[in-house]
Amino acid sequence: MTTTGPRVLGPVVDDATRCIHYRSELDVIAIRFACCGEYYPCHACHAETADHAATVWPRGARDERAVLCGECRAELTIAEYLGASSSCPRCGAGFNPGCALHTHLYFEV
Ligand SMILES: [Zn+2]
Ligand SMILES: [Zn+2]
Ligand SMILES: [Zn+2]
Repeated sequence: MTTTGPRVLGPVVDDATRCIHYRSELDVIAIRFACCGEYYPCHACHAETADHAATVWPRGARDERAVLCGECRAELTIAEYLGASSSCPRCGAGFNPGCALHTHLYFEV
């Protein structure tokens, strides 16, 4: 696995974008925030590290690449992520199903 690709800000604890808040086996994605265009592992990382309030991606932005798979470093579009939220459509890495509970923190639903 390569560690190239976009940078991920915040208190990341490993190369697969796990952070101090979510670090289970399945917590391998980072989200690019609409407000600043930067990747953070989770909403709490953004809240603690960024100097501004988070903005969610509008419904019309489903073609934006805003989800980074920490395993294969593929940048998925929002549509790809929402359509296959239990695993990475590129490498098959399992995604945390609990993330679906937080979808509204990142994307307008
Ligand atoms: Zn931001
Ligand atoms: Zn976090
Ligand atoms: Zn992947």
